[in-house]
Amino acid sequence: MTTPPPEASDDADTRLDQLVGLVVALASGNLGARMEPSPANDRIDAVTVGLTMLAEELQVLTEDMELRVAERTRQVADAHRQLERLALYDQLTGLANRTLLTARLDRAVARAERRGGPPAVLVLDLDGFKVVNDSFGHGVGDLLLIEVADRLRGIVRDIDTVARLGGDEFAVVISHATLDQVVEVATRIQQALARPVQAGAQQCWVGTSIGIRLAEPNLSAETLLRDADTAMYVAKGRGRGGIEFFESAMHATALRRVRVAEELRAAIADGQLQMRYQPIVELSGGRIAGVEALVRWQHPVRGLLTPDQFISVAEDTGLVVPLDAWVLDTAIAQAAKWRSTVLGTSDFGMHVNISPLELRSPAFADDVLERLGRSGAVAGDLMLEVTETQLMGEDAQTARALEKLRAAGVGVAIDDFGSGYSSMGYMRRQFVDVIKIDRSLIAELDSDPQQHRVAAAILGLVDAFGLTAVAEGVETPAQAARLHALGCRFGQGFLWGRPVRARTMTDLLRRSIDAPGGRVQRPVRPGTGRSSTMPGSSAGGRGP
Ligand code: C2E
Ligand code: MG
Ligand code: MG
Repeated sequence: MTTPPPEASDDADTRLDQLVGLVVALASGNLGARMEPSPANDRIDAVTVGLTMLAEELQVLTEDMELRVAERTRQVADAHRQLERLALYDQLTGLANRTLLTARLDRAVARAERRGGPPAVLVLDLDGFKVVNDSFGHGVGDLLLIEVADRLRGIVRDIDTVARLGGDEFAVVISHATLDQVVEVATRIQQALARPVQAGAQQCWVGTSIGIRLAEPNLSAETLLRDADTAMYVAKGRGRGGIEFFESAMHATALRRVRVAEELRAAIADGQLQMRYQPIVELSGGRIAGVEALVRWQHPVRGLLTPDQFISVAEDTGLVVPLDAWVLDTAIAQAAKWRSTVLGTSDFGMHVNISPLELRSPAFADDVLERLGRSGAVAGDLMLEVTETQLMGEDAQTARALEKLRAAGVGVAIDDFGSGYSSMGYMRRQFVDVIKIDRSLIAELDSDPQQHRVAAAILGLVDAFGLTAVAEGVETPAQAARLHALGCRFGQGFLWGRPVRARTMTDLLRRSIDAPGGRVQRPVRPGTGRSSTMPGSSAGGRGP
């Protein structure tokens, strides 16, 4: 048995100590700790080499793990940022969304005391955006919104917030604003949006209506935004491109509209709607050639209401759909009744106003034809009135619906022609039969030479396109005489009668038919009736 020399055993002890030290270092996480093997090449060295290899492997694994943890941390942070973008920013324009705007507005109100004055919030809605969207498609609409967002961003300071609330509605929060600053920003926004926008291949014009609410302590962002929105609707109602500051009276108006909507809903179901008929008269001879059906609301407290007191509420709330359905059914049933009792074979036009919502409904044409079929009325006795504003940005579906109705014999009139964004283009549309010249274009006919020239030009065009003209709002014999001299064939107005009940109109129709040589003329197609009698001079009834 050989025993190692004393120096050799000392050396082994020292290395054993070092080995223990290495194990402790590695176990405590110092994976870089190493121990050189000795020339002895004994079991201690074998363990040392084994430990070193293990430590190296562990080190590589740990480094790899650390890299992966760093990568995952970055991904989590990215996802967090993306979530935040989704939750707080508008995807299309990159502007703040309603949530972020509300939070910032609340903060700005809270800080107002300490930091130089309360904020103001502006809510703006693009005028004419729907026309762009309907005419050129959503792609162009999107490009337009992006450009509008850029222009808005360019106007405000870094501390202000621009947001898109949805659709074509935007908002701006101006931090600690003075009245002058707010007006200046609103004006600059209007100027910036008045410039045409190049959206893809299309050049578009939009404007904007702006409602402004100056913040007050203790008012929530939600309230301020609602008030600014109310003011914006008032601005829009006063015509394009308006700016309005919120006033508390506006809130009362908004509340009143809500109440009117509630009452109207019940009124339609309760049979409070009534119909009046206003004669449309042939200028030469004065015979009644048709009537316009005009709806009234017999309100239990407020009395008889005219459409201007409820139609816009009905349109905003969708109630105009059941309202128009009632009007159509009532008017068609009345036309059928007159046809079988007083009209005989005479031409006749029952004019019915159609709301934009109704016109754009996909089932519109079939619905009208179905109602006609059910009532047994003659399609040729029905004339639908649509306004030129309704036809703006008219889509292929609307045109198809009107063409289908016209093919079935139903007439189409452009109502209030000349009151809005008139386009002679509408006169050329396949589905148009009648142009109703707006009251505003004939009001000064006897005194204003320019109005005379305009009326003459329009009537010339109506004739050139083979259409029929009806002048609206004729109140004096002089107006009627001038219109007649200019070649206008039909008139409607207080001169011949206000809108009256069906019963009264039945009598007027009977008298008109029974008048000497009288055939009721239909104002819907060109080429009917002529006479040299002066307008307004015949028995065409005057309403009560
Ligand atoms: P509109 O279609 O242009 O109808 C003519 C309006 O002018 C009627 O007002 C009529 O009473 C009024 N008017 C007629 N002759 C004269 C005149 O000589 N002088 C003056 N100053 N006014 C005259 P109304 O009945 O208040 O209707 C206002 C508007 O409400 C209508 O304008 C039409 O756009 C809408 N409307 C009426 N009935 C209906 C309906 O059943 N459905 C829908 N959707 N809208 C309707
Ligand atoms: Mg009308
Ligand atoms: Mg009209």
